[in-house]
Amino acid sequence: MKIKPACSLAIFAALFVGSWPSFGQEAGENRIVLTNCNVIDCTGKSMMTDMTIVITGKRISKVTKGVYRGNNNDPSTRVFDLDGGYVLPGFWNMHSHLSDLLPDVNDILGTEPLLPAAIRAGRNAMDALKRGFTALRMTGERDYIDVAWRDAFSAGVFVGPRIFASGKIVMPTPDRQQDRRWPVALYADGPIEVRKAMQENINRGADFIKLVVNDLEPDELEAAIETAHANGLRVTAHSGGIGAQRAVEAGVDCIEHGYGLNDKTIRMMAEKGVFYDATIVCNLSKDYIAEREKIIAELGLDEDPEVVKGRIEVAFADERSQEMASRQREILRKARDAGVKIIPGGDSNPF
Ligand SMILES: [Zn+2]
Repeated sequence: MKIKPACSLAIFAALFVGSWPSFGQEAGENRIVLTNCNVIDCTGKSMMTDMTIVITGKRISKVTKGVYRGNNNDPSTRVFDLDGGYVLPGFWNMHSHLSDLLPDVNDILGTEPLLPAAIRAGRNAMDALKRGFTALRMTGERDYIDVAWRDAFSAGVFVGPRIFASGKIVMPTPDRQQDRRWPVALYADGPIEVRKAMQENINRGADFIKLVVNDLEPDELEAAIETAHANGLRVTAHSGGIGAQRAVEAGVDCIEHGYGLNDKTIRMMAEKGVFYDATIVCNLSKDYIAEREKIIAELGLDEDPEVVKGRIEVAFADERSQEMASRQREILRKARDAGVKIIPGGDSNPF
């Protein structure tokens, strides 16, 4: 079966906007035309087939039925025949780790030197863009790699997705032991150390702060949220169960994972406008796996090497905990029904 490429409109904008100045004209006068394509606008409307999209400057100025019949020799207009491809808004992965490896077969994460991690991180980001991810939210990265790549992309050094960087994860030392080895973490014990850790992330250019809250004392949690908010940054909390409830009561802006979220927390999240990133892909339910395998077989993709590789990569998550996976999906359903603002995150490398 031949699968046509899914083209992200934002990718086209990112790839071609950069070459406009060579036309020697006002940016606003230049047009990009995408024709012979199918449009999925992600509003729930059905797919619009055989369409033409006109982008003037940085905005979509027209979406019309049928192929483009304008002047192909006009130097201010670049026409791309997408050969029946699909155009849709860019994907956002709201929980990712730029230098992550999945699977990490040689168990190198956590001990490898910085440079290979930094190089892999950049390639991961650029690969993510090629697969349609135009924005990535980094929820914990070592050595401010995410900040560096964010700045390199926004300066136009490379073409990459838009990155929202958290820098390092602020968390207490595990069991309050002095085992400070995880390079993604900024360990802090007591409100003074927590404030310093928050400030370190802020000074290094973080866009928001990620906390691991379940073992934080109330005064540490309060110090963290206060420091972030005083500096105009949002706080997201890796948490679940009663830890998530405490975090929401204390004023965090988002919950990551939220395993075992109780009904009271879900209600508070809806009331306070706290976002929820359920990272559901980490815990696939048995029903989901069965459904996925059926669809893959129907599509005739069960022998495709890329698909086989992808299934092996997620197999560890499939097998981790069926019961927990089902519970997590139930929590996500409840959050949706309660009106909680839900954002999608993968909790791995960005694609
Ligand atoms: Zn994560």
